[in-house]
Amino acid sequence: MSEFDYDLLVIGSGPAGQRAAIQAAKLDKRVAIVERKVVVGGVCINTGTIPSKTLREAILHLSGYRERGLYGASYTVKQHITMSDLLFRTEHVISHEIDVTRSQLLRNRVETIAAEASFVGPHTLRLNDIVGHGGRDVTAANVVIATGTSATKDGHIPFDVQRILISDDMLRLETLPRTLAVIGAGVIGLEYASMFAALGVRVTLIDKRPRLLPFVDAEIMETLAYQLRQNRVTLRLGEAVSTIELFTDEHGDRVKIHLGSGKQIVAEKALYSIGRTGATGALNLAAAGLSTDDRGRLAVNAFYQTNVPHIYAVGDLIGFPSLASTSMEQGRLAACHAFGVPTKSVPELFPYGIYTIPEISTVGRNEEELTEQGVAYEIGKAQYREIARGQIMGDSTGLLKLIFHAETRALLGVHIIGEGASELIHIGQAVLAFGGSIDYFVSTVFNYPTLAECYKTAAFDGINRLGG
Ligand SMILES: Cc1cc2nc3c(=O)[nH]c(=O)nc-3n(C[C@H](O)[C@H](O)[C@H](O)COP(=O)(O)OP(=O)(O)OC[C@H]3O[C@@H](n4cnc5c(N)ncnc54)[C@H](O)[C@@H]3O)c2cc1C
Repeated sequence: MSEFDYDLLVIGSGPAGQRAAIQAAKLDKRVAIVERKVVVGGVCINTGTIPSKTLREAILHLSGYRERGLYGASYTVKQHITMSDLLFRTEHVISHEIDVTRSQLLRNRVETIAAEASFVGPHTLRLNDIVGHGGRDVTAANVVIATGTSATKDGHIPFDVQRILISDDMLRLETLPRTLAVIGAGVIGLEYASMFAALGVRVTLIDKRPRLLPFVDAEIMETLAYQLRQNRVTLRLGEAVSTIELFTDEHGDRVKIHLGSGKQIVAEKALYSIGRTGATGALNLAAAGLSTDDRGRLAVNAFYQTNVPHIYAVGDLIGFPSLASTSMEQGRLAACHAFGVPTKSVPELFPYGIYTIPEISTVGRNEEELTEQGVAYEIGKAQYREIARGQIMGDSTGLLKLIFHAETRALLGVHIIGEGASELIHIGQAVLAFGGSIDYFVSTVFNYPTLAECYKTAAFDGINRLGG
């Protein structure tokens, strides 16, 4: 019998914590997951990934946006779309996902504890009940910290939930604003900017960096910037926000944003989305011999161990790439490592899905990285409009771009913007993972008519560019 109450205690029930707990349970370990919210699922299910992606789907459907390429810019499924039209779908999906998660944890015999956890010592945690005021101490041989992040709030910004919002507040909007300023053109800021622009809201997007998402292929981001401008988004890049003030005039309650350059932007609402901070404040990390960086994040090694080897940290809490997809795999790998199970996962070859309108997905290296690394590469491109499925769908702006080695033709990267990008990317990801070349796309047969055919067209285009 072990000297500890649990073989593994997981703190946080988001994607990272869930997968760590379920993996340990599958190894027949005594495992519990501690969650301080009344519902399981973390930011992913309750305020981040799932609600924002469902909102996007509701916007695309009700606005008729997908069909406008065929039926014209005035096409719409519903006139006068309201926030309650949009949130109806979101609430339905969230409650279903919470239920699925609960049942998965139950089926795998993971004990779920509704409490806030904090360290008393490296193996001892205090669990303070979230209902009632009780609490108790428990011990665990291993601990996985998966407490995620919350939106970074700067002290000098007068957040009021009504006019100056963080991303969580977007799901509580009662009415659609006519104008929206989005401060911070990271993934979350860009997704919300493009969604509201698709609804006809006048959006201004502000970021101090001169280029949108520098980690994504420049050509793909130029295509997105073009699409945003087509939807009347004003891009204010290379501009820093100095102050934000709330004011009321004859047009109602509004926000005035002062930029360092002297420009002023007036909007009904402002979304402040400049990054996220690790949710470590309540953990009393010092009692376990741990400390964070200035953004509340924990450092880990390749096995997700902190500097205290039996304490692991996974998910958004450890920083880049901060995706639900990678968080799940990190959780699973941490649990495997804790119990000595060898794994073959390659988490560094992950795809990035960016659910802007149009959506973007990317895997492998981009042109800028390869140029910097001195790799001789060539590209091959396919526009969706060249492909029968693209015509049928009315997506005339989609683009799939392959990057491959100019001599060996080995695939080095795939970059896609357009409908279905986040699904299509997995074909390229598999070829990359198995070390394949673009010749695979030439010699294989794809269903017809599909967007997957873009791979073949892009491969032929690449070979033509080689002069072959
Ligand atoms: C608006 C938005 C959109 C996003 N869209 C996408 C997307 O499209 N695709 C994608 O892959 N990712 C997306 N993400 C990122 C994704 O949500 C995160 O990567 C993911 O949720 C991280 O999972 P996690 O398990 O690390 O933490 P979280 O999901 O944040 O879960 C952490 C949990 O820990 C709990 N907790 C914290 N402290 C304690 C404590 N002391 N005791 C007990 N419990 C505690 C919290 O209550 C929370 O439930 C999005 C994020 C946001 C905000």
